Formats: sequence, C-alpha cells, structure tokens
Amino acid sequence: MDIDKQKNFSEWFNTIISSAELADLRYNVKGFVVFRPWSVKSMKLMYTAYEAELERRGHSPALFPALIPESNFKIEGEHVEGFTPQVFWVEMAGGNKLEERLAMRPTSETAMYQMYALWIQGTADLPLKIYQSCQVWRYETKATKPFFRSREFHWIEAHDCFADEAGARGQVREDMEMTQAVLFEQFGIPFLFFQRPEWDKFPGAVHTYAADTLMPDGRVLQLPSTHLLGTNFAKAFNVYYQNDKGERAPVWQTCYGPAISRIYGAMFSVHGDNRGLVLPYDFAPLQVVIVPILGKDKDGTAILQYCQEVLEMLTRAGIRAKVDDSPNTPGFKYNHWELQGVPLRVEVGGREAEQKTLTLVVRDAPPKTKATVPLASAIEIVRKEGSLLSARLTAKADDYFKAHLSHAATMDELKAALEKGCIVRVPYCSMEKNEGKACADEIKAKFAGDVRGIKYDEKPPHAKEKCVQCGRDAKHWAYVARQY
Ligand SMILES: [Zn+2]
Repeated sequence: MDIDKQKNFSEWFNTIISSAELADLRYNVKGFVVFRPWSVKSMKLMYTAYEAELERRGHSPALFPALIPESNFKIEGEHVEGFTPQVFWVEMAGGNKLEERLAMRPTSETAMYQMYALWIQGTADLPLKIYQSCQVWRYETKATKPFFRSREFHWIEAHDCFADEAGARGQVREDMEMTQAVLFEQFGIPFLFFQRPEWDKFPGAVHTYAADTLMPDGRVLQLPSTHLLGTNFAKAFNVYYQNDKGERAPVWQTCYGPAISRIYGAMFSVHGDNRGLVLPYDFAPLQVVIVPILGKDKDGTAILQYCQEVLEMLTRAGIRAKVDDSPNTPGFKYNHWELQGVPLRVEVGGREAEQKTLTLVVRDAPPKTKATVPLASAIEIVRKEGSLLSARLTAKADDYFKAHLSHAATMDELKAALEKGCIVRVPYCSMEKNEGKACADEIKAKFAGDVRGIKYDEKPPHAKEKCVQCGRDAKHWAYVARQY
C-alpha cells in the first residue's frame, strides 16, 4: 500500500485493517468485529507484558462471570444510571424467560465487589489487588470503529481495595506509573494523564484519571483510565473490614482498565508508515522474515538449506522467525512483509549461502539500506537491531506528540491550534459541573473541541489568568482537543 497516513488517516486506517488482515468487519452483529490472527498474536504479547507488570506490583489474576444479575447492577446509583443505556441484557435461557434478567458485563465492579464483601474481613486481607483479562460489552451509540470503539472489546480490569484513602491514592499513582512502564516504555505510545472534569468521570467514581494519546488526524484517543472510587462502592456492596481500633470501616477502592484491543489500534496508528504497519520488535508476531533469493536457472537447494540453518538458529534463540519460501517474487515478498510490519528482513542468495553471511534490512530504514552480517553474530545483531528499531519508534512518536502540544490564551488561538491537530492548554474557569460545563459545551459547539481535564499534578495558573471562554478567573489549566 502507499497511502499518506498524515493526510488521509481514515483511509490509511481502514486499508491497513483489511490489507494486513487485522480484523474482519463482515461479522453479522452490528458493532462487533472479528479480530484476525495477525492482530491477535500481537495483542496476546501485549496482554502478557501488561499482566507481568500488574503481577510485579502485587496484583493476582481471577476470572469472574460475564453475567451480572440486574439486582447487583442496581446497587450503586450513579453507576447504574451511567451504564444502563449501554448494557446488553440476557432475558431468556433455553426458551424460558429468566426470573431476573442478567447484564452482560460492561465492566465488573458489580460482579466483583459482592465477592470482595465475603473475602475481606480484617486488615490482614488488605490490600486486595485483583485483575482479570476478559472481554466486555457496551452498546455504544457513537459510531463504532474497529479497535477504537466496538461493542465488544478486550481489556484488563484491575480492582483494588485498601484500608485508607492514602492507600487508594497511592494506587492511582501506581496505575499511572504502570501505564508509563508499559504503554510508553514498551509499546512506544506517548500520552498525558488528565483528571477528567466532574461532568466526564466514571459513573460512581470520586475522580477519574485517563491517559490520552494523539492520533495522526489530530484527534485524541483515551487509553487506560484509573478511577478513585473512594468508599462509594464499598458502602453500597458492604465491603467493610475491622480496623485496628476494632471498628467496622468501608474499604477504599480503585479500578484501572487498559483496553488491549484499543491500545493495539493506537500502537499501529502511531508507528505505522505510508507502506504499512511498523511494529515494535517485542510485539511483532514475526520478528524476522527470511527471504531466499533464488537465481533463475540455478538449483536453489544450497540457498534453501542455508535458510533453514538460519531459521533454526534464530528460533532456538527464541526469536520469532520464518522462511518465506512461497513461489512469489522476492519483490512481492518484501512489500508483503513490510505491509505486515515485520521488524527485520533477512535476504539470502548464493553469495550469503557461500560466505555464511546474511543481508539484513530493518523495517524503518531508508530504502536500499542493507547490512551484511556474519552468521556467527546474527542472533546478537538481530536483537540489537530490533531493540534499536523499537527505541527509534518511541522517540519518533514522542517527538510528534510533544510537537503537537500547544497553548492558547484566546478563543481564536484555541481554534487555530485545534485546526493544527494539537492538544491545547488553556486557562479555564472550573472543572465543577455547575460552574465549568457550560464553557466546555460552548467550545464543543464552536470548534468541536473537548475539554479533556487538567493535567495530573500541574500547578494551577496565577490569579490574573482568565478563562479562555467566559473570561471569569481561571482556576485551572485545562487541556482541549478533538476526540474520538
Ligand atoms: Zn469558563
């Protein structure tokens, strides 16, 4: 393919999903997609990386049922109000109407916390840090888009309980650190964490903090969010423990939800180029493709044998490699594996087979950049080039992200910066619903910009700053962007 990702992101995105066989949209339930092997192989690697990070930080895995009785669902008032419009309900089983209808989980607070009430008795049971990797269902009414927003998606949800507020706030910070450690440092996706405005937080939460990344069309995409739930759910679900003074106290809770299918979409959108996918080395289904170059009239046996020798050597070292010995031309194979985002290509012809060398081409190198590598050091060089490729992708993505952070003091400046595809910092009146939402609505109506919130830990502006929209005293630096 050859599509300008920056200029025609939507066309690029749709084309790559079908050409690289990432998903099939022909499944006959609206808003549901079939994820195909090439994307699922990467997503499994991403799950593994995320789960390892969670477990390193004291989380344990569990698996809760997908169905939630309506009575559980109704226990926390704000939560039920926020999620009910998005719930798929199961009302029948085997031809019988169920006595109580069952929600297909849109998120699992109301499935997990009744069990937490049974499991938590005293301080010895805290903190409790549980995650599950599963799919959830939400009847999205906004336009769906594969990977970014579909009615079924694949995620991890972590639900943690603490004895006090300090423990819960510490977890919110740890969730942000995990996001940095995995999303940025491993997947190479830059983001900023915003505390969402009061009118845009998770239903039932005290505060919502969410990571926004930037897509090539200048719109932000929400990646993991972490929610300080306070004691709202604990009180509703009766999750109490006996504290050191012998009193019954509700636990403090947090939840954190990285959606792997969406993060995968963000990862290939951020790193891809006009020729196709460019995948970080550790998350590519195939890390090295070996392409035999057979002379037209010559017997290729020696070359093919040598290819097998190289393959065995790489595979034994744990490198995901394959020989493409299909009948296609080498040029066709190069294009195909570039489209699929394979980080490294090894070309093997007569000369390489004879001299025991490899010709190595890195996915993001300028055209015709090749290196000759002795077979004896192939493993070391493949690993090194793979990790250099990932580091370049991260640095490039980070530069792009930082170049699209902007500041505006007036509505005209805000409009201009949004049109350039920036995330724009503005002085802003209030994050409270009754005081600040009207300005957000105004900005949305005028420029299709969304107030994403305030940056975590950023100092508020000086007293002289005035809200970009209404001119009242600005209590915050808010960030505005167009959103998915
Ligand atoms: Zn205002």
